Amino acid sequence: MADTYAVIGLGRFGSSLLESLINAGQEVLAIDNNTETIQTYMEIATHAVIADAQDEASLRELDLASFDHVIVTIGHNQQASILATIILKDIGCKHVIAKAENNLHAHVLEKVGADEVVRPEHEMAQQVANRLVSPNLLNFISLNDDFSIGEIKLTNFHFANRSIADLNIRSEYGLNVIAVKAHEEFVISPDADFIINIGDVLTVIGSTDNVQKFDHLIS
Ligand code: ADP
Repeated sequence: MADTYAVIGLGRFGSSLLESLINAGQEVLAIDNNTETIQTYMEIATHAVIADAQDEASLRELDLASFDHVIVTIGHNQQASILATIILKDIGCKHVIAKAENNLHAHVLEKVGADEVVRPEHEMAQQVANRLVSPNLLNFISLNDDFSIGEIKLTNFHFANRSIADLNIRSEYGLNVIAVKAHEEFVISPDADFIINIGDVLTVIGSTDNVQKFDHLIS
């Protein structure tokens, strides 16, 4: 059976999340304490109800513990967002994601038991900054505090028309090349004699430090 979702607080982020989940074919219960807001999203959400997220009895009545994911997207009213998160964990919600407005808010939400805390503006700002500073680092995934996967476009001629073995990527740069996208071709686990050209996109795995150094070298 498909997962079920409840989104509490239909501001800019909550309403976009609601629309994205609905577009992805998911069942979403939308909750807000503002009557007009609920009327606006009545047609879009699977169900939409007016409720105060600070009121335990209302949240219990909605049987939120039976939902797979509950996302608290109240931002400005930090007291409501924190209280709602506490109540949701108290009543047994399995997976509570909470949106934070700032660092302190994020810290409190983690302390009161949010399973995940997101800071959309902060995360998007970081992505935009990374894209501007490292335009050839097309994708970057942090695996943990130390290791990452990077998708890097080769633009440095010194590295072009040479094989992976010739470039000594593993011993020189401490990275493993796990895939190369060359024109329309996508090669998983390329052989050591695979020749890399300008414009090819290398997917490498290794320490975050090494991924970043390699990005600066080859782009
Ligand atoms: P954004 O920055 O994403 O627009 P906002 O904090 O401005 O987020 O919007 C939050 C939404 O949460 C608003 O629609 C507001 O009516 C709703 N909201 C605020 N407090 C509560 C509450 N106690 N219970 C339910 N919904 C709430």
